[in-house]
Amino acid sequence: MTEEAFDVVVVGSCMTDLVSQAPRLPKAGETIHGHKFFIGFGGKGANQCIQAARMGAKTAMVCKVGKDFFGENYIQNFKDNGVSTEFVGQTVDSATGAASIIVNDAGENAIVIVAGANLLLGGEDLRRALPALSRAKVMVCQLEVSPDTSLQALRLSHENNVKTIFNPAPAIPDLDPDFYRASDVFCCNESEAELLTGVAVASIEDAGRAGQELLRRGCNSVIITLGSRGCVVLSAQEPSSPSHHVPTKPVTTVDTTGAGDSFIGALAFYMAHFPTMSLEEMARRANQVAGVSVQTIGTQASYPSKKDLPTDLF
Ligand code: ATP
Repeated sequence: MTEEAFDVVVVGSCMTDLVSQAPRLPKAGETIHGHKFFIGFGGKGANQCIQAARMGAKTAMVCKVGKDFFGENYIQNFKDNGVSTEFVGQTVDSATGAASIIVNDAGENAIVIVAGANLLLGGEDLRRALPALSRAKVMVCQLEVSPDTSLQALRLSHENNVKTIFNPAPAIPDLDPDFYRASDVFCCNESEAELLTGVAVASIEDAGRAGQELLRRGCNSVIITLGSRGCVVLSAQEPSSPSHHVPTKPVTTVDTTGAGDSFIGALAFYMAHFPTMSLEEMARRANQVAGVSVQTIGTQASYPSKKDLPTDLF
């Protein structure tokens, strides 16, 4: 049993991305030749954990992979990034989560995701991880594992006064009200905010309105990320809860895949290391970290480490 207290514990998903690039997407029953293939590490939970670890947070991942090649490979990836794998379970009952992705020359894609072992992460795994979960500074979870597991993790953390970040992605309508009540920071993108609140989010003002609705449902604070426009931040502590727009610096964008996860991983690092910093300042810095990730191809491959970032972010 662990004696360590972690800065950030992530309860979430691991996915292996199998990416083929081809001139066009194949039709049903057709076999075509592609020109490039690569394997990437993905899954929202793992992405967020890896970004927090690269910033310098002491991290642990609570997840489930298969007893297969991809599972072994993923465990090694966590170790290579300094993430504790004490709570990474392996199962023979399902394969490691995988996303088979085909990208055509126009940049369009067709994707099949098989969540596999991720869906077997459950209450027993959380109980095993309780010593780490109950003493963490920050717990982060999403919706790529069973929503019941994420909700249990949120409730457990909340009961133990561990700060929580909940990322409702991929969004599901009719979220259990406890998801809101157990979230210290409820962090989502525009389309998730729209699906959850019914407020069409096209502008910064719209995002503010959607954020107000999320606050009304019981979150302590809300961040809605807005791609190149940065994010809006709202807090229930402020009288009348105004929304604050936190802009980003313009950058040359190459690939935005996984930018949202980079933002959340960085946010978790700041919440753990600078607990008295204002949420707006944390969001401003997380914008900068995610802004670095969009300037390089890949998901985790594009996430910066502390040494790659300006010292004034620390
Ligand atoms: P993804 O699904 O691609 O991971 P997302 O939709 O969850 O992303 P976004 O709102 O697109 O999340 O982006 C998250 C954060 O990444 C933004 O708040 C911003 O800080 C940064 N970001 C994203 N796109 C850009 C961009 N083009 N230029 C600068 N920063 C960006």
